[in-house]
Amino acid sequence: MPAFLREAAERIGYLGPEPDRWRNRSEYELKEAQEPDHFIDLERLQGFGELPRSRYVYYRRLYELHNSATPGSPAAADEMLPDKIGLQPWAALEVFDRLKVAFREYRSLTAAKQPSAQAEQDAIFYAGWLGHYVADGSNPMHTSIHYNGWVGENPGGYTTARDTHSNFESRFVSANLAKLRIDDLLHDPVRLDHPFQDYVQYLRDSNALIRPFYELEKKGAFRAAGTPEGVEFTRARLAAGAQMLLNMWYTAWVESGEPRPGD
Ligand SMILES: [Zn+2]
Repeated sequence: MPAFLREAAERIGYLGPEPDRWRNRSEYELKEAQEPDHFIDLERLQGFGELPRSRYVYYRRLYELHNSATPGSPAAADEMLPDKIGLQPWAALEVFDRLKVAFREYRSLTAAKQPSAQAEQDAIFYAGWLGHYVADGSNPMHTSIHYNGWVGENPGGYTTARDTHSNFESRFVSANLAKLRIDDLLHDPVRLDHPFQDYVQYLRDSNALIRPFYELEKKGAFRAAGTPEGVEFTRARLAAGAQMLLNMWYTAWVESGEPRPGD
């Protein structure tokens, strides 16, 4: 990966929360447009089959299912529309594609011995912006209807508290940063052969941890300083996100140097 990206760690860190700065009512249109980018309720897509790479194909199929459902049935509910189920993988992959374009511009400018600072700034912005969605996806609650407390039937007796999400993602993580180092869990980036499908699998792997998360929560694993199990669970999730982000940056870089179809 190019050195300018490694040297931009501070800027990339600042950009991590950038999409959350777009979620205030004071910027109504922006809030409305990108709120679904932060999550996907995978439970609602059981039986949907493979997710299409085009967001509009996904929209169309969901509306077809919704419109053909028996009125009053769960499949006819507004919760089954794309903005309610969420757009996480498309948000992430569309930024990944922008990053690839910026890397390609950088390559062609440097090959032509032209100044490359403009393309570098673009790439840094996209790399940081992408980091937000990848980090969101590492938290099982961003992939699940159980986004902020358990919903629906609850034989496990899991918490329904409306601060479950922020307690884990913000309070627990910031209160325990020293114990949450992940260097030992990361490895060199690897190329993703099928970035969209690989990213969807990353979200499915995260979603598979929703019940283990609530089991741990029930045992107090994320209360105050937490338990060793809670710390390890969180470290593994943070590392999964960091590794996926490194892999996506690396893949965008490698793909940006390859001939495009039709070149
Ligand atoms: Zn978010």
